[in-house]
Amino acid sequence: MTVAASPAVPMLPFIDLQAQRRRLGGAVEAAVMAAVEGGAWIMGPQVREFETGLAAFGRAKHALGCANGTDALILPLIAWSLRPGDAVFVPSFTFTATAEIVPWLGAAPVFVDVDPVTYNMDPARLEAAIEGIRAEGRLTPKVVIAVDLFGQPADYPAIRAICDRHGLKLIADSAQGFGCTLNGEHPIRWADVTTTSFFPAKPLGCYGDGGAVLTDDDDLAQEMDSLRVHGKVVAKDLKDGASFAHDPKYLAMRIGMNSRLDTIQAAVLIEKLKVFADEIEWRNRIAARYNDLLAPHVAAVPQVIAGGVSTWAQYTIAHEARDALAAHLREQGVPTAVYYPVPMHMQPAYARFPRGAGGLPVTERVREQVLSLPMHADLDEATQDHIVAAVAGFVGAGA
Ligand SMILES: *Cc1c(COP(=O)(O)O)cnc(C)c1O
Repeated sequence: MTVAASPAVPMLPFIDLQAQRRRLGGAVEAAVMAAVEGGAWIMGPQVREFETGLAAFGRAKHALGCANGTDALILPLIAWSLRPGDAVFVPSFTFTATAEIVPWLGAAPVFVDVDPVTYNMDPARLEAAIEGIRAEGRLTPKVVIAVDLFGQPADYPAIRAICDRHGLKLIADSAQGFGCTLNGEHPIRWADVTTTSFFPAKPLGCYGDGGAVLTDDDDLAQEMDSLRVHGKVVAKDLKDGASFAHDPKYLAMRIGMNSRLDTIQAAVLIEKLKVFADEIEWRNRIAARYNDLLAPHVAAVPQVIAGGVSTWAQYTIAHEARDALAAHLREQGVPTAVYYPVPMHMQPAYARFPRGAGGLPVTERVREQVLSLPMHADLDEATQDHIVAAVAGFVGAGA
């Protein structure tokens, strides 16, 4: 028999943002046009309005928009005067940005292994890493950045306790997990700052780049507000009735940067935030259905920490024959992605930075097994059934 070349199967979207756009029925486009017509394209009223809504959603006293989720991470580090010789503890199993901002300030990221079930920072490995760095005496531990990988909250109660024992600040990098909760509380309940990204593919995304920082700390909020606009003068700089008669951005009180959220992106986000709570619910329903249907066919379906609610930025399974499964799924029109094939401590630019005591055996194992399947709020059951059947078909062939 001759083997015909398989006909081109149309590829499903990995994240269907156009389906979301259609569902929102023109509300986003109308908001964008209103922002264009309003003419306040930088720091227009939509930015403040969105920040207020974001703070309320994330249960934080302050939320400040910025240009992207990477800048959101650098803002608190600058505010805390991080400098050469300081150590920042980060997971290695994360997107580049989590570690990238640390050497910008001459400080060193220290890579910490993850929990084999949740893929989030392992508190026991964190404590061992801090103690190892202290014993070595070359670097001074200053900050921990926990990541809400794939949308689920890190083990904040344990990580906060470790930070308190060692006098360290805690950042929640919630670029993937903004909106996640642990025992009903948002990460800011434990973190000094929560950061997020509005990159389009994130659970709460805009139509370009954007980010935000959230904090309950009044002083830190002012510092970061100043830093995102070139170190402009803020209320705390004008003590004892002092005033500055001109535009406050022309009085530089600290060395800052330009990291604002565009008015047009804020207008998009105002509309998206209105449906975000519903979307988190739908994503959880879709993930639960995936878990039920896929459990017999894969090495591991995702498991969320006890008491946690994920935003499901990714739905990530583990499979021993990951790359063969991905190739098989591609033939069936099912796109997949590997987050992350090369963890940070194995990246050429980062290999010189320290690793936590005991190394990163879990990270090095799971990076070869993880595979993310299509996941978005508009994934319907028929499409999901097709994806599940494609995965089940691979296992059948291999058996
Ligand atoms: C996307 C992401 C970032 C960076 O966000 P940008 O808006 O792309 O700069 C930071 N950390 C994590 C974990 C991310 O997934």
